[in-house]
Amino acid sequence: MTATLPARADVVVIGGGVVGLATARELAGAGRDVVVLEQFALDHTRGGSHGDARVFAYVHPEPEWVPMAVESMRLWRELEAEAGERLLDDSGGLYATERASLLTPALTENGVAFELLSAAATAERFPVTLPAGKQAIWTPQAATIFADRALLALAASVRTRGGAIHERTPVTALRRTPGGPGRVELETAAGAIRAETVVVAAGGWAGPLLAQAGVELPLVTRRGTVAYFPFRAGERIPPPLFEEGSPSIYSATSPGHGLKLGESRIGPTVDPDAPWEPDAESAARLAQRVRERFPTAVPSDPHLEIGLFGNLPEPRFVLEEHDGVIAAAACEGRGFKFAPLTGARLAALATAPAVR
Ligand SMILES: Cc1cc2nc3c(=O)[nH]c(=O)nc-3n(C[C@H](O)[C@H](O)[C@H](O)COP(=O)(O)OP(=O)(O)OC[C@H]3O[C@@H](n4cnc5c(N)ncnc54)[C@H](O)[C@@H]3O)c2cc1C
Repeated sequence: MTATLPARADVVVIGGGVVGLATARELAGAGRDVVVLEQFALDHTRGGSHGDARVFAYVHPEPEWVPMAVESMRLWRELEAEAGERLLDDSGGLYATERASLLTPALTENGVAFELLSAAATAERFPVTLPAGKQAIWTPQAATIFADRALLALAASVRTRGGAIHERTPVTALRRTPGGPGRVELETAAGAIRAETVVVAAGGWAGPLLAQAGVELPLVTRRGTVAYFPFRAGERIPPPLFEEGSPSIYSATSPGHGLKLGESRIGPTVDPDAPWEPDAESAARLAQRVRERFPTAVPSDPHLEIGLFGNLPEPRFVLEEHDGVIAAAACEGRGFKFAPLTGARLAALATAPAVR
């Protein structure tokens, strides 16, 4: 039975993806009266957080993201302990690049263990074939997040801490109110609700919602095709690989479907509600990459999936407060692993004295 929507809450979070749930968990843990509104069921597959695998990498061209990764991993481990189940597979990870010397100082500074491997040394250790000019940075602490389990664990934690999650409750209007309790009013399919603060964690749907509250951000909604290739029976499984290139590619091992492969920051801009079809050209390029890089996977008949991205054009997070309305946009390709940290930062914004 669906619970009735309350008339008010301290904080309403729009969006039950990984960012919204991580934010609500922090807020509920801090004793705030928090309500999450999700337009679909939590386990839907139309946004950015579905699927069974996300890579937790430490290597980044942005050096300031390395200490963030260290902190975010600590928070994932806390959630794992609270959930009493494994949410991360300690797979390690490879980052293939021609500029390793620029990327490794941030790892050293932040105590992240790594090894530099030539293409030949990589092929000796792992079923991964790199071009001769590239090196791999191997980080044994990198991991694969069991994404669907992690979402369930976050939702369970929100509820255990006293937060409410209303599924199938799309927000249809968002506006500031002239006075009285609750600075922001939301209209939903289940009635109206007022809040002191609203966190818009609506992924690819965030731009128009924020605009209703007068918050204009140059968010771009894109979709990307992900292909899953089975492994050959009895063969070795490669660790996650990110390979810089045009486009860059990322891989993970999906417990359900084999080798998961996608292209980074590529794909058409879309209306998130328009019907979706996987991109056959992207799938063909991915099959070619399997032939070139992953000898233990079968490069044909992949299972295809689509993911939705709502981001700034450049690789940057949005965590901003605008007079009671907080804008959140996870950064494509990194949004999942950083979610516990992003959630903590958004919750801090929502409860800062200047905001409340
Ligand atoms: C294919 C793919 C691979 C990725 N790989 C990685 C990876 O390996 N590592 C990594 O760290 N990150 C990765 N990412 C990025 C990461 O998964 C995303 O950044 C993250 O999941 C986005 O979460 P979100 O909560 O911001 O958005 P979403 O998960 O899209 O959640 C937004 C939610 O808001 C809801 N919503 C929208 N509008 C409304 C409304 N009006 N009312 C109510 N609800 C609404 C939506 O239904 C949705 O559930 C990947 C992303 C994709 C798509």
